[in-house]
Amino acid sequence: MAAATAIKDFFSSFMLFELFKGMRLTGRHFLAKKITIQFPEEKTPLSPRFRGLHALRRYESGEERCIACKLCEAICPALAITIESDVRDDGSRRTTRYDIDLMKCIFCGMCEESCPVDAIVETQTLEYHGEKKSDLYFTKDMLLAVGDRYAAEITAAKEADARYR
Ligand code: SF4
Ligand code: SF4
Repeated sequence: MAAATAIKDFFSSFMLFELFKGMRLTGRHFLAKKITIQFPEEKTPLSPRFRGLHALRRYESGEERCIACKLCEAICPALAITIESDVRDDGSRRTTRYDIDLMKCIFCGMCEESCPVDAIVETQTLEYHGEKKSDLYFTKDMLLAVGDRYAAEITAAKEADARYR
């Protein structure tokens, strides 16, 4: 049996069979439609559930959505969220501090899933960077600014995903 295999292998290599097999595969991919893209000029489509840069959202009235329930802080597995809160004159509770340390965040999306009022979300923004650690420490004002900037995009992503929830 071993001798038969050795003879078969010998003739296989002698006839350059493996080489032609490899060339056939190369030829197939040579003619196939290419999937390489020239990032960042070209981009692949993103899912509405893509978990990028965080944002805090407002209602259309301009009022912030977050009610300082702290569910997101409690569920965050990376302990990346820090919230402090107080009661306003009108009796409503709001955060006085809402920080996310993106150096700790693992972009699991659990903060977004846990939020009862869709206040904290992860946007489709993936092109951002920090040159030092503190650049990636996002305060409440910074998160609200991201929410304001991408409000239309966030709403569109939520609507696209709504029927699957
Ligand atoms: S995405 Fe996950 S790790 Fe990041 S802040 Fe939200 S819960 Fe924490
Ligand atoms: S972002 Fe949502 S889950 Fe987090 S404290 Fe505000 S309301 Fe609660």
